[in-house]
Amino acid sequence: MNSLLLNTDGVQIPQLGFGVWQVPDDEAERAVSTAIAAGYTSIDTAKLYFNEEGVGRAIAKSGVPREKLFITTKLWNDEHDNAEAAFETSLGKLGLDYLDLYLIHWPVPSQDKYVQAWKTLERLYRDGRIRAIGVSNFTVETLERLMNEAEIVPSINQIELHPHFQQKELRAFHEANGILTEAWSPLGQGKGLLDDPGLAKLAMKHAKSPAQVVLRWHIQLGNVVIPKSVTPERIRENIDVFDFTLDAEDMAAIGAMNTGRRIGPDPATFDWMG
Ligand code: NAD
Repeated sequence: MNSLLLNTDGVQIPQLGFGVWQVPDDEAERAVSTAIAAGYTSIDTAKLYFNEEGVGRAIAKSGVPREKLFITTKLWNDEHDNAEAAFETSLGKLGLDYLDLYLIHWPVPSQDKYVQAWKTLERLYRDGRIRAIGVSNFTVETLERLMNEAEIVPSINQIELHPHFQQKELRAFHEANGILTEAWSPLGQGKGLLDDPGLAKLAMKHAKSPAQVVLRWHIQLGNVVIPKSVTPERIRENIDVFDFTLDAEDMAAIGAMNTGRRIGPDPATFDWMG
């Protein structure tokens, strides 16, 4: 498994991990167990997914040494001024004594508390409770404000990113500032994107599936990806993307699929509290 270096003291993140949004707690335990058995070592959950306990049970039962796993969870929007307690609750549900990566899930600019939340994350990082800290759904504007007011540059920004929504400007901003790009909904949530005839052609060319072609595109761009599936065959299929290479023409063909349309909400205005 490829790993990428985060901007924090030599910490590395596996480039491909497993996401569990919209997976109920008991199903999350099964899916994460299948994923770990298939070779995934990185798991992405969040307080808002209500499955940290299921993820934790799968981790405990896996028999994989803790230091071989990379576990991410996220601070929810209504806890920006209560980040330490939220962190402790998540850690308890996961059954862990440290976290690899903790993210602010959304900036919620209208609430204007993300800098405060970040300062708590910085302290938890310095205290050794979290190996790396980062953000999710931050824009250039909210990242700039954070970097102006905080001491630690986020290690990663987890954002909506797939062939239909390629986020070129934000990716360039990340690269210029030593921030890794992590793609959420890397498969565009499956429907629509994976039926694109252009992807079917590339899949045929490489004897891979459209999902594998899309994941390979992300890997070659340097993105961290966290595809989700609860189907064992697909879970295994999605990690089997390290034995082929897209050439420049293939990359350009996918590059031309950008529609600029999001699936998810606009982070500049999203203020849902759950
Ligand atoms: P995704 O792009 O990973 O797509 C998942 C869907 O694609 C599956 O439900 C299934 O329908 C289909 N699929 C998966 N593998 C397939 C395959 N091999 N062949 C055909 N179809 C396949 O969507 P996602 O779950 O939205 O995103 C992945 C992860 O990103 C989430 O689970 C979560 O961890 C994270 N996420 C984060 C945020 C955020 O705000 N930070 C938002 C959304 C998702």
